[in-house]
Amino acid sequence: MDLAGGRIPPTNGAEFRRVDAWVSAVCAAAPDSIALQDGNRRVTYAELDREADRVARMISARGVAPGGAIGVRMRRGWRLYAALLGVWRHGSAYVPVDLSYPRARQDHIVADSGMGLLVEDGEEEAGFAMRVLDPRPECASLPQHTAYVLYTSGSTGRPKGVVLRHANVLAFLDGAIRTFRFGSDDIWAQFTSPCFDISVAEIWLPLVTGGRFVVVPEDVTSAPAAFQRLLVDRRVSVLSQVPTVFRYLLNALEEEGTALPFLRQVLLCGEPVEPHTVLRWLKSGIASAAKVYNLYGPTEATVYATWQELTEDDLDSARSGTPIGRALPHVTVTVLDGGRPATPGRIGEICLGGAGVAWGYLGLPDRTARSFVTLDGDTKERWYRTGDLARIEQDRLWFEGRTDTQVKLRGLRIELGEVEALLSAHDNIREAAVVMARRAQGDPFLVACCVPSSDSVVADAPALRAYLAELLPPYMMPSRFVDIPALPLTLNGKLDRKRLEELVQPEPA
Ligand code: AMP
Repeated sequence: MDLAGGRIPPTNGAEFRRVDAWVSAVCAAAPDSIALQDGNRRVTYAELDREADRVARMISARGVAPGGAIGVRMRRGWRLYAALLGVWRHGSAYVPVDLSYPRARQDHIVADSGMGLLVEDGEEEAGFAMRVLDPRPECASLPQHTAYVLYTSGSTGRPKGVVLRHANVLAFLDGAIRTFRFGSDDIWAQFTSPCFDISVAEIWLPLVTGGRFVVVPEDVTSAPAAFQRLLVDRRVSVLSQVPTVFRYLLNALEEEGTALPFLRQVLLCGEPVEPHTVLRWLKSGIASAAKVYNLYGPTEATVYATWQELTEDDLDSARSGTPIGRALPHVTVTVLDGGRPATPGRIGEICLGGAGVAWGYLGLPDRTARSFVTLDGDTKERWYRTGDLARIEQDRLWFEGRTDTQVKLRGLRIELGEVEALLSAHDNIREAAVVMARRAQGDPFLVACCVPSSDSVVADAPALRAYLAELLPPYMMPSRFVDIPALPLTLNGKLDRKRLEELVQPEPA
């Protein structure tokens, strides 16, 4: 790969069999370029390369065989990325474990993935600590060339590991670069935890294009005023944001009268866009040079699956749903209505095929078989049934909600069934249902509706919160707990969620 006038020419993901090989090619081509910036610490590609090699050697030195899962449980900081790359260089798959998760959830991820070793923060000069769990892990269940396993909420009460291979990620990166023309001039903001797949875009798209990313400190991710300063100071050109978080950022930018002249692209992803917020943004002139895209996709189809540029025309109309556009190159999309492709205008379930489709859920063959299917007797192509609803109009997809009770809070995926299963397992609770309610400004939050098992009063919020805090990450914790004598049922005996939602709204002052 040659350097042309300081710019790294776009490479083709098809040249590589693993993402780390692609990053290595960039390290070799542009060793002195900045790969990432963490506070005042700038890390060049050469340094990242060296540190990742050091991590790979440290793992090998512990006698851990390549090809299995390796956990990465580290604070957000430049070494975290060297660890992720180092795991790949070792020939293993990374499994991020979030330090904010309760111990039981971390333990589940460690045990379920069968990881052989955990990379953690270490003493200053070593930088990393290696906690060996099993030098010869039972990795038969992990397919060859797995890149990462991400744990996502599971309706049975336990998170499930989605297994993505290098081929999936290469296809995604390659397709995204061709579609959006990301390049070595781009400066990204690394906002999302590596436990969520938006981070795959924020970390690896810059690193395979010779661009750079700026590490957004943990406390700044929930401080829009500080975040907007970071965007200005670091001249961020590509910003990926979850729509609700984007609204807070827009509020902060408007309050301070800040402009973002360096911003080139805004990638909204993770949950339905808020048309009024995007309209406000487009009309504000805050970043008049920036295009705004709506990117839709589940972890199971590798980060983003469809894309749509958002313009005032698209958003001004009174159509139902939000436009999510058309497929990126690494997936194919079909919308099924009663097992057949939906006719234009009809709502159906989004099914995703192509190179982005995940291998499946780790250790869950039944669940995998239910979600990853073949269609119409074509046994070669595997499709992921997303559970998302859409209709096709004007040659593009419009998002229309879910077939089930999976919800999104600040872009984070929550199966209400997971919280319900844990609540129902509590001694004082006979049955429970969790619903999403909205505050006056439109922000969603969870309400746990609990039916006591006997005379006990269960909606003792502090006690229930303490019980759940040992099992659930903070983002899945209900904000309110209410006692109800019985769960409302529909005429055919199913839980009447609509009625329940009405019962818990509006939020009492
Ligand atoms: P995750 O696997 O955490 O990325 O969550 C994927 C789910 O988030 C999808 O199945 C959708 O329900 C939802 N989602 C992601 N992006 C969008 C979007 N742009 N518009 C609407 N829903 C989205």
